[in-house]
Amino acid sequence: MANRPHVLIVGAGIIGASIAWHLASAGARVTVVDAGAPGGVATRNSWAWINASWGNPEAYFRLRVRAMAEWRRLERELPDIRVAWVGGLIWELPPDQLEAFAVEHLARGYGIRRVDRVEAQRIEPQLAAPPEFALHVPGEGAVEPLDAVQALLTAAQGLGATVIANNPVRALNLRGGRVRGVRMDIGDLDADEVILAAGAGTAALAATAGLILPITAPPALLVATKPEARLLNGLVMAPELQMRQTAAGRLLATAGLDVTASCEDGSLAAAAVFEAMKRMLRSGVSLDMDFHAVGRRPIPKDGLPVIGRADGIAGLYIAVMHSGITLAPAVGRFVTDEILSGRCDPLLAPYGVERFAGFNPHGA
Ligand SMILES: Cc1cc2nc3c(=O)[nH]c(=O)nc-3n(C[C@H](O)[C@H](O)[C@H](O)COP(=O)(O)OP(=O)(O)OC[C@H]3O[C@@H](n4cnc5c(N)ncnc54)[C@H](O)[C@@H]3O)c2cc1C
Repeated sequence: MANRPHVLIVGAGIIGASIAWHLASAGARVTVVDAGAPGGVATRNSWAWINASWGNPEAYFRLRVRAMAEWRRLERELPDIRVAWVGGLIWELPPDQLEAFAVEHLARGYGIRRVDRVEAQRIEPQLAAPPEFALHVPGEGAVEPLDAVQALLTAAQGLGATVIANNPVRALNLRGGRVRGVRMDIGDLDADEVILAAGAGTAALAATAGLILPITAPPALLVATKPEARLLNGLVMAPELQMRQTAAGRLLATAGLDVTASCEDGSLAAAAVFEAMKRMLRSGVSLDMDFHAVGRRPIPKDGLPVIGRADGIAGLYIAVMHSGITLAPAVGRFVTDEILSGRCDPLLAPYGVERFAGFNPHGA
């Protein structure tokens, strides 16, 4: 690239790491800055299901399906990245809603099978009480998020990217209506473009340039057992919890956290989730709990991603979302295209910054 722009990415979670690698691969000069260790805040505590499942408007479903295909592309380009395409067995919804989900998503072309108790037991022989009716989605998968971040950042560094860890960005440097870089304790860093991929920290940084982003960060619980012999073949989405087994053998369960009903560190809720895991598996009584973590899901106010430039503030790009694990490879690719060639993929059209009321690029 003749004139290599310098792009500074705030955030070394899955979104920042994916954008960093895609930009570096396309020839940009890249600096990634993180307040903590690479691996993110949400990312390191994510359950990391890659899916285009229920409850989404069709346009968002299409983006997620594309993102699933982009994970397969990323696996080919970076062999250190391995997605476990193990499929999902879903009976998290009441049967009528499950059926509605099947009808809608089959019409959209999503590969779903209706399964009865016998088939559910065949798919997951360890289930103590398989459901009478479930859906099986063979094309869904999961990735180990910290491994993926590490693979992306290592590859980006191999292409010349710089990663600065344990250094929070204090503010955006805005001069003459343009973001020129960031302010840090180690000094100012200049850049041609700054990308905020700072998860739940994005709103505070955007505000330093007068951009108000309504982003919530509700807590969610992740419970991990010690490594076990293989008990689960794929992802299990049951009404009590969602559960999968990592390549290293840990069973990972996630559930929303009712902060009003649990002690602050989530240990009471974690104990309840762990008991539910044990009940759900035939040899569950022998499970050993290893740890739990309370993660924060970065969720824009309307539940959909915020990806795009901030109108009226040149040099600033925002990329914050839930389902960031699912979306990361597509976001990395599309953001790189937009920043380097100005081409905006139509799949990103609904997720612009400007859709939020209260947007005030020239505000305080
Ligand atoms: C329990 C749980 C389960 C989930 N399950 C799924 C799932 O099954 N599938 C799925 O697709 N998604 C899931 N998610 C959501 C997904 O994990 C997130 O959408 C994704 O990890 C967001 O990645 P990110 O890189 O944007 O944010 P993060 O991983 O939070 O990374 C942001 C980074 O920015 C840094 N940062 C913040 N402020 C500053 C600053 N001022 N200066 C410098 N650095 C800063 C932080 O230190 C952090 O490293 C889950 C999340 C949780 C918590």
